[in-house]
Amino acid sequence: MLALQGDFREHARVLASLGADVALVRRAEDLDGIAGLVIPGGESTVMDKLARTFGVFEPLRARIAAGMPVYGTCAGLIMLADRIVDGIEGQQTLGGLDITVRRNAFGSQNQSFETDLDIPALGERPVHAVFIRGPVVDAVGPAATPLATLSDGRVVAVEQGNLLGTSFHPEITGEHRFHEYFLGKVAAA
Ligand code: GLN
Repeated sequence: MLALQGDFREHARVLASLGADVALVRRAEDLDGIAGLVIPGGESTVMDKLARTFGVFEPLRARIAAGMPVYGTCAGLIMLADRIVDGIEGQQTLGGLDITVRRNAFGSQNQSFETDLDIPALGERPVHAVFIRGPVVDAVGPAATPLATLSDGRVVAVEQGNLLGTSFHPEITGEHRFHEYFLGKVAAA
């Protein structure tokens, strides 16, 4: 778990319940022996600044480029995007996903909403998705694949090799299939 900021405890609980050995990553040395990483929801502008202040930004970038499996939710999806619109001045992302994300695409905190999504990759039962000031994927480049779309066609989950990202928060709804799917990637890697 990247544990600089955000709801990393909720993710850690889900991962541990699925049998994963969970460690918290805050500094470069914490990456030693890590087989995969989850980047939680929170605030991408703050996470970016803290990652650079703690000296973990560049090492993380290198590990992602080298193929480490990473799953990002919401702010974590923003951190994984190659391109960002509506970022703050100077905001950087770790990158890896060939997508353009738009921050706060659904409006402010009190415009948060929940909906059910059909995600064939995870089986027939719909995924209950909670959006909390989440981003939307504005453009999906040729290297990335959309996994889920809203009824209006906007993309809210993507996959690219060992990278997985969702605009929403499975870690707070009892939905474990994304984490299971991700742990499958970690095991395979
Ligand atoms: N709006 C936040 C950001 O820009 C993301 C919100 C979330 O992670 N729930 O990083």
